[in-house]
Amino acid sequence: MPEKVYFAPIEGSVREFNFEGKLKKLFSAAGLDKVFSPDELVAVKIHFGEKGNTGHIAPKHTGYIINEIRRRRGKPFLTDTTTLYRGQRGNAVDHLALADEHGYNFRNCGAPLVIADGLRGQSGVAIKIKGKHFRQAHIASEFAHADAMITLSHATGHIGTGFACALKNLGMGCASRGGKRAQHSHMRPQADRLKCTACGECVKWCPENAIKLVKKKKKVAQINAKKCIGCGQCFSVCRFSAIEFDWGNMGRDLQERIAEYALAAAAALGGKVGYINFLTRITESCDCMGIDEPRIVPDIGLVAGRDPVAVDAASYDLIAERNGDVFKELYPDFEVRDQFTHAEKIGLGTSKYKIIKV
Ligand code: SF4
Ligand code: SF4
Repeated sequence: MPEKVYFAPIEGSVREFNFEGKLKKLFSAAGLDKVFSPDELVAVKIHFGEKGNTGHIAPKHTGYIINEIRRRRGKPFLTDTTTLYRGQRGNAVDHLALADEHGYNFRNCGAPLVIADGLRGQSGVAIKIKGKHFRQAHIASEFAHADAMITLSHATGHIGTGFACALKNLGMGCASRGGKRAQHSHMRPQADRLKCTACGECVKWCPENAIKLVKKKKKVAQINAKKCIGCGQCFSVCRFSAIEFDWGNMGRDLQERIAEYALAAAAALGGKVGYINFLTRITESCDCMGIDEPRIVPDIGLVAGRDPVAVDAASYDLIAERNGDVFKELYPDFEVRDQFTHAEKIGLGTSKYKIIKV
């Protein structure tokens, strides 16, 4: 039996698209109002965007969802977790200041902000799962203390998985720092001596001080594999494509690990989770990139449902139907459907869906 996925297409100009009205309709049609009861604490999981990022979901649109929760007497709060890499989201204080700078505050959105894994990303709870890679997952503690969750996910490309949306927001985005490390622990990059210009950017961003510039025939970056935690930040910041991962097995493993953490995050909330995907402002990289990236395809619309695998599979297909498989072209080393296949296998949901237009 295919899972119902609700889709509000942007058919004309995005300026004329009624985000408020469509989000309201999607919220009811997809049964997101059934996810929580009056007086329950409802986490609204979002990515506030790295400093300089312009693709993240607009605070105004987030506010429309908050209104729907409040109208039904739920108690919403906006939330995300700290990152592994150096940036403006590495601790709760910097993260909250950046969120405010990007327009996420009580005034614009109608809800308080809570960083779910504590001041320095230290607060997590262990959730038992039966996965191929993990028997327990470290989920940011406030998700386990919330009563329900609505995830707002931005569909983008991704350097480590090819495509990122609800599964990534749930799996990586709800993990504590320990959980994020565990998901990345198998990944080890290498610096290409011929391409490296010794600009030092990767040295500056590496959270573990695992990279040094060393003098061989010329000065080049050298990565200490024992210190490296596989966060991928050096890969993201190198403008000379000098950092390489062997994505063959690493890419599939990362997708599977994220799917297992997504299973744990949903379990931490007792399955009381609803999903809204934004197929708008679609960029090559995720919102962790602190730059104003060009949009790679026209805006497509909004997708909602109760099954994270179905909403992601539908989102991926809707983008591909209109634009060809852009993510495969951008990231030929990845088979994006690996994440859906593994998520299905571990019982997180189904990639068989039926689209219902609203
Ligand atoms: S960012 Fe790239 S080019 Fe610059 S030092 Fe690091 S590997 Fe070399
Ligand atoms: S060397 Fe390892 S820890 Fe440092 S930025 Fe690169 S992937 Fe992350």
